[in-house]
Amino acid sequence: MFNLVIFGPPGAGKGTQSEKILDKYGLTHLSTGDVFRSNIKGETELGVLAKSYIDRGDLVPDEVTIAMVEDFLTNHSEARGFVFDGFPRTIKQGEVLDDMLNNKNTAIHIVLALEVVEDELVRRLLERGKISGRSDDQSEDKIRNRFNEYQQKTEPLLQYYEKQGKLVRVHGMGSIDEIFNNLSEAIDKAQSAA
Ligand code: AMP
Repeated sequence: MFNLVIFGPPGAGKGTQSEKILDKYGLTHLSTGDVFRSNIKGETELGVLAKSYIDRGDLVPDEVTIAMVEDFLTNHSEARGFVFDGFPRTIKQGEVLDDMLNNKNTAIHIVLALEVVEDELVRRLLERGKISGRSDDQSEDKIRNRFNEYQQKTEPLLQYYEKQGKLVRVHGMGSIDEIFNNLSEAIDKAQSAA
């Protein structure tokens, strides 16, 4: 198996780049945000639980998120590998993910951290909000709250993965294809080392 994490603040381009990575490398996508949104749409128990957090731009509690990821991995046991997009978002999630993969005799091979300046992130999110209708993209207040959550709870994972020697920082400004070329180069290197 080959597993990667695509990492970065809201609006960094994780979803866009994930799609291209899946196409090229034949991996399975786990976007925790997408899974939450489809549960909200389907009005499932999980959707009802997650909705108030997502609407405010807060993180969904770890227990809820981790249980969902466990289910997803169990239901996709045939996957050649995963692109984790928007997960992990806390140190706890990162530790549990390492344990879950370890139990499957595999691991995270590379963490690709997209770097984009904050003004550009806000601009992209407000733009996306016009088309996506996502409740959490609709106001600058909610977007700022998501950045706060990112800085307080998610950014510490950068050191977590740096210590493991898995972190690769990638310039996330420029055209989609330019950024994808940089990501591909890093993935190819990690695959040949795996
Ligand atoms: P995203 O689509 O990745 O931007 O996620 C949208 C929202 O879903 C986030 O702002 C959180 O409220 C929630 N969410 C997604 N992934 C996670 C996660 N790994 N942990 C906690 N909350 C999450």
